[in-house]
This record gives sequence, C-alpha cells and structure tokens, in this order.
Amino acid sequence: MIDVARIREDFPILKRKVNNQPLVYFDNAATSQTPTCVIDAIVDYYARYNANIHRGVHALSQEATDAYEQARQKIQKHFNALHPHEIIFTSGTTNAINIVAAGYQALLVPGDELLVSAMEHHSNIVPWQMLCEKTGAKLKVIPMLPDGTLDLAAYKSLLTPNTRLVFVNHVSNALGTINPIESLIVEAHTVGAKILIDGAQAAPHIETDLQALDVDFYVTSAHKMCGPTGVGILYGKTDLLNALPPYQGGGEMIATVSFEKTTYADLPHKFEAGTPNIAGGIAFGAAIDYIHSIGLNHIAAYEQELLHYATDQLSQIPGLKIYGQAPHKTAVISFNIGEIHPYDIGTILDKMGIAVRTGQHCTQPIMDYYQIPGTVRASFSFYNTKEEIDRLVAAVKKAQMMLE
Ligand SMILES: *Cc1c(COP(=O)(O)O)cnc(C)c1O
Repeated sequence: MIDVARIREDFPILKRKVNNQPLVYFDNAATSQTPTCVIDAIVDYYARYNANIHRGVHALSQEATDAYEQARQKIQKHFNALHPHEIIFTSGTTNAINIVAAGYQALLVPGDELLVSAMEHHSNIVPWQMLCEKTGAKLKVIPMLPDGTLDLAAYKSLLTPNTRLVFVNHVSNALGTINPIESLIVEAHTVGAKILIDGAQAAPHIETDLQALDVDFYVTSAHKMCGPTGVGILYGKTDLLNALPPYQGGGEMIATVSFEKTTYADLPHKFEAGTPNIAGGIAFGAAIDYIHSIGLNHIAAYEQELLHYATDQLSQIPGLKIYGQAPHKTAVISFNIGEIHPYDIGTILDKMGIAVRTGQHCTQPIMDYYQIPGTVRASFSFYNTKEEIDRLVAAVKKAQMMLE
C-alpha cells in the first residue's frame, strides 16, 4: 500500500504554490518530480567527490568511478539485463535512439524495411526517417485503431523477410496505451527483424524484465522516473551493440589511438565518448533505489486507482471526450471538451495552480489520426492524490463554463 502523505514529504516541490494555490502537478508524463534523496545524490557528488571517472589514480576519481559503475549495475539489475556493459549511459531516450539509428546507417541497404508504430513520440520517428534518407531503406507504419491500440493484424501482415527493424513504444505518452510488447517482440523475431522498444513512459510504472522479453534494444530516460534530466540509457544485446559502429569519437571510447589506426574500447565505453553526466548517472541509481523502496507493484496499483477515479469523474462532464480507451493503460488521460482549444483550458488550469500539458505531446501523427489540434493531458504519479483530482475536475468544469 502507498502512504501518499508520507511519500509527498519526499518531494520538496510539492509544497510549492503556483498562482497562490497549492501546486497540483499532473504533467508527470513530461517529467516526474525529484525526491530529496535524488537531489542529495547530486549535491553529495559535487560537495564530496567531484572528479572525472575511469582515468585518475587519485581517491576522488576512484570514488566517482565506483559510484557511477554502481549506478550502472543498479540499472542493470532493475531491468534484468544480462550484463552491466549492455547498459549504455546516454543523455536520454532521444540520444539513445539516435545512437542506434546512426549505427544502422552502416548496416542497411536499399530495399530494407523498417516498421514504426503510428503512436510513436517524434524522437522514435524522425531518427528513422533520417536513416531511411541516408540508406534507401523504407519506413512503413503500423496503423492504430480508434481506441488507441495498435492494429495487430496489420502489424503481422507488414512483417516480411525484408523487415530489419521494428520501433514501438512500451507505453504511449499521449494516450497511456500499454502496448503488448511481448507478442510484438516474438512476431518481429519470426521474420528475423530486430526490435527497439521506447520505454520512456513504461519505466516509472511497469516492471520490465529485458531478458524475459528477449528485446533487442530498450531505451529510457531517468527524468521520467524520479531521476534527473540529461541522463538515460540504451540497452542492447551484447552482440548487437558490438555490431554497431560507435556514435561519436573522442576520449573514453578508444582502446588505442595513433594516426595510422585507432581501435575502439569494449562495451559500454565504445558508446560513451567524452566526460558523461557523472552526477546524473549516480542520481539515476538513487532514483532506482527510491522507486524500489516504494515498490513498482505498489506504485502501479495506486496509479491505476487514480486513473479509474479520474476517468470516472472526468467522463461525467458533458462534452468531454477522452482519447485513448485501451483496456491496458497507464495513468494518462488525454481529453478535449467540445471545440474548445486545449491551450485555453490549460491556461485556465494553470491560473488555478494545476499543471497539465496541452498540445500534440510530440506525437503529431496521433493528433492527425483523430483530426484534432491537440489534447489536454493529465498524467498522474504515485505522489498525487484523489483530492488533487477533485481540484482538477472542478477546475475543468469552471474552464468549460468560461470558454463555452
Ligand atoms: C519523453 C519521451 C521521449 C523523449 O525522452 P527525452 O528524455 O526527451 O529524450 C521519447 N519517447 C517517449 C514515449 C517519451 O515519453
């Protein structure tokens, strides 16, 4: 069970007021808030052992290296990857996807096919379009259905022996849909394709066992799971990461350098050129510890309670339409009221201290599919309460009265 009053004490920002009202933070799908233990991990690094890693003989460098590598192991255990070296630190999900896309430039030929789902974040679309421009590979789209789920029959028929890569998010950031990635992965493998799962929205809510899933690549960002911004991971199976050329050249990623020939370092360093976000990596580890101290199963159960409560309450507002009615969803509610522009609702909610996101949520193809300019999106986390949802519902009713 979740003791939400106690948990809220861990998040200093939740004591803030916005426009003279206690903050209601419902923009968790854009970024989650940061508990004191994660903030402390960053402060502690800079205050006590700030040093560059993997290079110094001195004590501080050794301490920093140990803490950074321990964080990598925490992340490996959390996602149940086989080896720590399969966890590559990146600056986030976007960066992780670009590393894979850049690497495949050397591995694709014209006629190869890539499949992307219709409900991807732009960061899981654009790098693949750029890759296709460079290689002559073809990008095909797995369509979606009106309830916000993927058309699985269409997916099967799009898979061919020419399919090299498939890209799907574990959870849609705009709709909350939990995609059936277990079967998507199995299907991709039957034609010999590799599959990359964008886990940015799943990692804070769903337990993910990378080995059981047998997924090829999995990417996520720390800042969606109580960690800091500017750090994330690329997981890849060892043989696949070894087959990819490095992304950037520089320090840390080499074994030997001469003007005649340079050889690359082993994993994970091959993909970690330059000084990384050391404090961020360590704080990512602290965020994983924090989430474990509460338990992802408790988090998921409580967030489902919030989702159902908010769905019931909001659905009673006349003219309010929820986009994304998948049977399996995370606690994300995307909605519009009649013809009112989502931005206008968001602005009024902000005046009442309630933070939601409005617009396309970096998923323009989904908005085009529903033929809408965007939605109001309320996304909940385990530190939110039903009282806050009551405030949202009252504020939405007020906005509707003012705008209709
Ligand atoms: C947030 C998000 C991204 C992008 O993450 P960054 O941290 O901005 O790189 C990609 N995909 C999904 C599903 C997201 O929610």
